[in-house]
Amino acid sequence: MPAFSRSAAPVAAAAPAGVRLFFALWPGPALAATLASWAAQAQAACGGRAMRPDTLHLTLAFLGAVDAERAAALVAATARQRARPGSITLDRYGTFARQGIVWAGPAEVPPALQHTHDALWDWLEPLGWPRPAQAFKPHVTLLRRAARLDGTPAAPPPVQWQYRRYVLVQSRPREGVAHYQVLARSAG
Ligand code: ATP
Ligand code: MG
Repeated sequence: MPAFSRSAAPVAAAAPAGVRLFFALWPGPALAATLASWAAQAQAACGGRAMRPDTLHLTLAFLGAVDAERAAALVAATARQRARPGSITLDRYGTFARQGIVWAGPAEVPPALQHTHDALWDWLEPLGWPRPAQAFKPHVTLLRRAARLDGTPAAPPPVQWQYRRYVLVQSRPREGVAHYQVLARSAG
């Protein structure tokens, strides 16, 4: 069974090898360190498990399992994509109560970021990945399995995230711990 499969069901011998992929903005080390301090502050109030600084990201498009051939094509094509550069003001904590997630995000979606998200799906949709029905809600997950979600503290001073590129990432979920590998970056 492939390492990324969490199912107890047997995998058919003919099933193509697949990888779990998503597109994201990835912060540089300085911003990741700042966001790690946000996570520590939220954790003191909410409990839960903090994401490691090197795993912090903002998902633009989640693709799920992709067979090896299409994954290779995506890796090559990603390097030819060009994101519209932009800036995000991270100024608030938010929660996804069902998953026990505490995140950092912007109060409003910046138009340039919405454009980058929409342009990404304009590219992906004709390739066969269905565009999500729900609105884009940009966020950086800071904590998982937080128990006290009603006590989210006031956010630290806002931080600006200037980005130029997005990345294509492989996810290898293992025992609830995220393992990510950047496979390709857009041009920029
Ligand atoms: P784990 O699932 O093992 O807890 P993870 O959620 O970090 O780890 P993935 O499930 O592979 O790893 O998700 C990778 C990224 O895509 C994360 O940012 C996650 O929030 C996001 N994501 C996962 N599933 C979806 C989905 N169905 N729709 C939108 N985004 C998703
Ligand atoms: Mg997940």
